[in-house]
Amino acid sequence: MTPMSLLTEIDGKDPAILGQELYRFAEDLFPICRSITGDGIRRTLSMIQERIHLQISEVPTGTPVFDWTIPKEWNIRDAYIRLPGGRRVVDFQKSNLHVLSYSTPVHATMSLSDLRPHLYTIPQHPDWIPNKTSYYQPQWGFCLSENQMQALEECEYEVCIDSTLADGHLTYGECYLPGKSSDEVLISSHACHPSLANDNLSGLTIATALAQFLSGRNLRYSYRFLFIPGTIGAITWLARNQEAAKRIRHGLVLTCLGDRGDLHYKKSRRGNSEVDRAAANVLRHYAGSSGILEFSPYGYDERQYCSPGFNLAVGCLMRGVPGTFPEYHTSADNLEFIHPAELAGSLRICAAIFDVLECNQRFRNLNPYCEPQLGRRNLFRSTGGGDSVGLETNARLWVLNLSDGQHSLLDIAERSGIRFSAIKEAATLLWESGLLAPLLEDGAEISGRKEGLQPDRTTSTPVSRD
Ligand SMILES: [Zn+2]
Repeated sequence: MTPMSLLTEIDGKDPAILGQELYRFAEDLFPICRSITGDGIRRTLSMIQERIHLQISEVPTGTPVFDWTIPKEWNIRDAYIRLPGGRRVVDFQKSNLHVLSYSTPVHATMSLSDLRPHLYTIPQHPDWIPNKTSYYQPQWGFCLSENQMQALEECEYEVCIDSTLADGHLTYGECYLPGKSSDEVLISSHACHPSLANDNLSGLTIATALAQFLSGRNLRYSYRFLFIPGTIGAITWLARNQEAAKRIRHGLVLTCLGDRGDLHYKKSRRGNSEVDRAAANVLRHYAGSSGILEFSPYGYDERQYCSPGFNLAVGCLMRGVPGTFPEYHTSADNLEFIHPAELAGSLRICAAIFDVLECNQRFRNLNPYCEPQLGRRNLFRSTGGGDSVGLETNARLWVLNLSDGQHSLLDIAERSGIRFSAIKEAATLLWESGLLAPLLEDGAEISGRKEGLQPDRTTSTPVSRD
């Protein structure tokens, strides 16, 4: 069998078809009115469950989770502001963004001046509806465009929010894919936003596709995919899984991955963990223009994973940085704002990061006194004139030089400036040629060619240090 990296395999697929598949799933999920609890997130999880093996957890209202408590469950059927004559001037059936998420029920008649404190708009984008929430302070409200607001006349309105806020459950889903090691890679996406495409659905669709893609593979790490309500979901999962959290070796929060912006990676709190370095290396070589952001304690669920008690090596991969693009948390973050090509491109970057994590390891040069004669082994090829060597040969020389037992392949990729995949190919070839020996995690050398320890490009034995 021809061994393949995850990235090579993704690159073997038609990116247009891949992008369309991701986009279509986002289209299917778009209409659902999600929130941090309730039937919207349940329906979303059950649609994900049709594609991957997802274990669903229901945590009762009132359950303490660290400093927080599982809130009441919120569900909504309808909401509107109606003119005395009966026409709806704001209608939840037209956009679920029209209701302040977690609004308490209301059914009353009131003047515009009494209604006004409950209305939210974005004056600088008069056509857009904002997305607002009030999870932890009981209140009700409507979100509408500034133009809708301006058209409201002084009169008595019938105001209705047909919602329930009652004891129930917080729901989340997880998909666990066992690998050779019980050490885990965590992929976390929030699933609590209503009809918003980039901030929410892009992460959900890509995480689902990655779980499908990794299922049934012979993996180095175990992979855990979490589909959770933002903040309270991550806190809940961590509170209930403190032992499992200790096995998380690397992690990525995925969000905002379908817009046309450059890719960004926000580092974990540690700042120099293996996943931070892997993501930086992949963005540098595969993403063109891209950005690396330092950790900050505001953002998505990396805030919880990187809280000081856990301090997990979890960063956040995104295109548009939440809060910095005008469409963020508005009705303009819709299906026109995300694009199949960008979704597919983001998936590809995730696969490349997993490749680094799966294959990063250390080797020892078995012939450390001066260079081994590569030409004699048909491993040396110069290209062109002068004394330039080609990328392949250069990668081999770097791997031989730095494989002193101290440097991982990622160290070598960083120092040489050569992309990780080329360094890994070089190491595999040198190992097959008997010039390198892989090291175990503790630095012990693997001697001989025992069963399971032969060079294997798909399933290298894990030996790296964070
Ligand atoms: Zn958001």
